[in-house]
Formats: sequence, C-alpha cells, structure tokens
Amino acid sequence: MNKILIMGPQGAGKGTQAEILAKELNIPAISMGALLRDEIAGGSEKGLEAKSYIDGGTLVPDDLALSIIQERLTKSDAANGWILDGFPRILKQADLFLESVEPTHAILLEITDDQSVERLSGRVQCNKCRCGFQLKYVPPKENDKCDHCDGNLVRRSDDVPEVIRQRLEIYHTETEPVADKFEGMGILYRVDGSGNVEEVAEKVKKIFE
Ligand code: AMP
Repeated sequence: MNKILIMGPQGAGKGTQAEILAKELNIPAISMGALLRDEIAGGSEKGLEAKSYIDGGTLVPDDLALSIIQERLTKSDAANGWILDGFPRILKQADLFLESVEPTHAILLEITDDQSVERLSGRVQCNKCRCGFQLKYVPPKENDKCDHCDGNLVRRSDDVPEVIRQRLEIYHTETEPVADKFEGMGILYRVDGSGNVEEVAEKVKKIFE
C-alpha cells in the first residue's frame, strides 16, 4: 500500500503532480491547503479559525491541521493508500503524524526560490472545479475561463509577492528539516521539479516502477 507525501516549496507542482500520480496509482490525492480552503468556503468553525493564518501566509495551528487531515484519511477512498500534499510541514506535525501513520514515500520536488515566485505570481485556479493553470507555462485556452467547466479563473489570496516570500521563509526554516527527517528514515525521493509538468511526472512515475 502506497502512503505518499509530496513535499517541496510553493509552486514546485505538488498539487499537479499529486493529481497525476493519483490517477496512475488509483488512490486519492489529498491537499492540506485545499482541505483548509474548503473549510473556509464552507464557513465552518475550523475554516474561520484557519482564514487569518492563511491570508497572512503563516501556518495554521498544528492541532487544527492534524485534526482535519486525520479525519480525511479515515474516509473510505483512502483505505488502499493516498497521496498527501502539504502535510506535515513542520517537525512537530511530522512527529505527531508518525505516531499513527507510516508513510512509504516522501517525494521532494525541488525548485529555486526565484522559480517559486515566478510560478506562483502567474498561478490561477478555477473557482468551480479547482483545477489549476499557470498563465505562462500551463495557460488556459481562454483568458480567465476554465478549460474544463464554465468556472472563472481566480488567483489565490495568498499568491501575492509579500505573502509568497513569507511562505517560502517558513518552507526553508520549518519544512526542510522535515524532508531531512524523512531522508534519515530512508523514504525520501528527491526529484528535480524545474522541468515542465510532463517531464516531472515522468520522473515521479519512475519511483514506482
Ligand atoms: P498550500 O495550498 O499548500 O500553499 O497552503 C496554503 C496555506 O494553508 C499555508 O500558507 C498555510 O497557512 C496553510 N497550511 C497548509 N498546510 C498546512 C500545514 N500542514 N500546517 C499548517 N498550515 C498549513
């Protein structure tokens, strides 16, 4: 059973690669950030708590993130494996998570900070089906319109330069040590994330061949 964590800086392509690999392996791709944004959109108490942290580019409290992810992993579609993007992001979350879960792979998509800022500043997402586009690298057929449904393409509120820098800072100080921990456990797979979507997907796929 594959229990896969996808890691990497903002804009490395975690969500995109998670979706591709999920189809390949026939298991769900679960995004911590998307789960949080769903809570916000649904107006739940958890969402209300999460919103100010997300808008400021800081991490939501560990207990909140952990409770949302644990609840999600108990759903029936995750019984035969899963791919998780965006969790754990700090050592404390990793330690708590590892008390009850044994991940089989941690895939680290590596890009530079400059690539990260460039990719995120052109990132848009459908407000209906949530699929993502990048105006320069994965452009939609029609400006502002989704290719797959009648939704509109919008920017994420936290994809603005100051907040991107803040999120990258957290990535380097807090999340990189988590990757080091998985490296020590012998489950870390480093992948160069700087190519196009298909090139990176091919490299990720090789891990499972
Ligand atoms: P993402 O979509 O992965 O870029 O996440 C967007 C925002 O959600 C982050 O900037 C955090 O505020 C919050 N978030 C996502 N994952 C976590 C996590 N594991 N722990 C705490 N906050 C998180």
